[in-house]
Amino acid sequence: MIIMKTDATQEQIAQVVKEIKKYGLRADVSKGKYRTVIGLIGDESKIPFAHFAVLPGVKEAMTVETPYKLISREYSKFFERERERLVVKVGNIKIGSDGPIFIAGPCAVESKEQLFKIAEGVKKAGAHILRGGIFKPRSSVHTFQGLGAAGREEAEEALEWLREAGKRFKLPVVTEVRGEAQVDLAAEYADMLQIGARNMYNQDLLTKVAKKNKPVLFKRHFGAGIEEFLSFAEYIAVEGNKNIILCERGVLPVGKGKNYTRYTLDLGAVPAIQKETYLPVVVDPSHGTGRRDLIFNMSCAAIAAGASGLMIEVHYNPAEALVDAQQAITPDELKQVIDACQRIHKLIVPGRNEES
Ligand code: PEP
Ligand code: MN
Repeated sequence: MIIMKTDATQEQIAQVVKEIKKYGLRADVSKGKYRTVIGLIGDESKIPFAHFAVLPGVKEAMTVETPYKLISREYSKFFERERERLVVKVGNIKIGSDGPIFIAGPCAVESKEQLFKIAEGVKKAGAHILRGGIFKPRSSVHTFQGLGAAGREEAEEALEWLREAGKRFKLPVVTEVRGEAQVDLAAEYADMLQIGARNMYNQDLLTKVAKKNKPVLFKRHFGAGIEEFLSFAEYIAVEGNKNIILCERGVLPVGKGKNYTRYTLDLGAVPAIQKETYLPVVVDPSHGTGRRDLIFNMSCAAIAAGASGLMIEVHYNPAEALVDAQQAITPDELKQVIDACQRIHKLIVPGRNEES
């Protein structure tokens, strides 16, 4: 990265960007209160750093050792010294700011009636953002694949319900895009686009979603290490879109024998990720446990671990849910979760020390 002097002129910044492009790389120009920092995007082995260090207006040219840098604290500290966490706006909701944010709704949109009933319930319970899957990534092709699987018209109709439910209950909405072909359509209706765990490695999808300039809910693959997770989030950031919310949703369980949870919720990842990046981190205890009777405890634990919010699957009649029935909770149960989490958040915030 190239750190500009505090008094560097626009011309000098433009000159550095031009030089970077000469080497076939792209530039991320971050203007802070004090100075501008320029991140190089691409194959750095082609760059003669010494040449950049002596360009007019340049204070220092240095390398960042991680495979991600635009989302790293190491990068942001040069232009936003006081920045602790990026605040990502989804509609009128801010994630990463003061209180925890609750994203709730059905795993899958099943009908207009089902969606509206759940939307009303989660709003009353105190949720801030409505979720609803229309393109579902399922393990078996012989199961309900989401209403979007029936065709473009059906997908658009379901997306319209989602937008309408969001408007009616004043909740911004998020939905998953499972493939590139769904991105343009979903972006017309949703306030935030979700990239599911199974697609964490899908670079082309990441790039396409990033270019929509909407906030992105980016889920960790169940087999991915933290460095890998952040490295792929960087694919979104290099498109100029840093409105990324990272979501821990559990990793594969270990060992032989029954594990009693669907995945292993990695709550240590929350503070660990926060040390590396300024992006907000949320936790999905629904997929993380696969059990509705564990949602309350793991939600509380996630907030205590410092998560900026939670994503929870809700259904008014969980046993009837077409997808993930075993992990859905009712709106009343969601209210209990939210109330407890709000209390925990108030308790821990004054004592939290980002640097320790
Ligand atoms: C989901 O949130 O609906 C989902 C499918 O989750 P994941 O991608 O984490 O499995
Ligand atoms: Mn689900």
